[in-house]
Amino acid sequence: RPLLEVIDLRVEFPNRRGTLTALDGISFTIAPGEVLGVVGESGAGKSLTGAAIIGLLEPPGRIAAGEIRLQGLRIDNLPPGEMRKVRGREIGAIFQDPLTSLNPLYTVGRQLIETIQAHLNLGRSSARERAIELLRSTGIPAPDERIDHYPHQFSGGMRQRVVIALALAAEPKLLIADEPTTALDVSIQAQIIALLRDLCHRHGTAVMLVTHDMGVIAETADRVAVMYAGRIAELGPVTEVIHRP
Ligand code: ADP
Ligand code: ADP
Repeated sequence: RPLLEVIDLRVEFPNRRGTLTALDGISFTIAPGEVLGVVGESGAGKSLTGAAIIGLLEPPGRIAAGEIRLQGLRIDNLPPGEMRKVRGREIGAIFQDPLTSLNPLYTVGRQLIETIQAHLNLGRSSARERAIELLRSTGIPAPDERIDHYPHQFSGGMRQRVVIALALAAEPKLLIADEPTTALDVSIQAQIIALLRDLCHRHGTAVMLVTHDMGVIAETADRVAVMYAGRIAELGPVTEVIHRP
């Protein structure tokens, strides 16, 4: 059965004239371990879809109709505290700017260890070992030293690797990655996408990958949803949707 089900989702924003329907009739599923690419021009509704799934839709935006289910259980109407737990443990998130995911005041080790301990039953030294392993698996050199560094001590690309480590620290079943490489130097974008794909593949983590980059989709996704004006215009295997003459 699907890991994630989005069923006829509608998101509205009240405005002067009444309501703006920003997402309308959005339906799709993501299977365990599947990578779903989401593409579409700016304003199509890609980020809102991700935000609705992780429960971070900003008011006055609201889910006006539809359902979101994770492993069969509704998550679109959970109280904020419950949703925070789901977001930590079951669904990880990576955004365009690595600094939105990292606390500038804490070392990356502290952030990783706190996340690991909040979600996995590990003592402090095992959690630290695991944090170092996670940093190593994302390709950060000398992770046993870098673990005590602060976010600003990393370059942009290394910082996004830290964010990936943090997003995967709780071993979520689903990762929402919203333009995860757009803010990075073009020369390292492909490396970061390959890293994300390989780590998620190895651990069976499903991914909803929002991007405007068709090349990334072709390289990474199993299926792709093309969004247009708040709707899904097309949805299917990558080979059918983007390799047409
Ligand atoms: P994308 O990620 O595809 O660029 P978004 O999901 O960010 O698009 O936004 C889709 C549409 O939702 C926007 O074009 C806009 O109409 C509406 N929208 C998003 N955020 C707001 C907001 N805070 N207030 C009003 N409308 C919004
Ligand atoms: P092994 O059992 O072969 O040592 P692990 O499960 O420890 O493999 O994973 C190897 C690497 O991947 C380690 O860096 C670990 O911290 C990291 N890792 C483990 N589980 C996950 C997961 N679900 N998501 C992301 N990374 C993970």
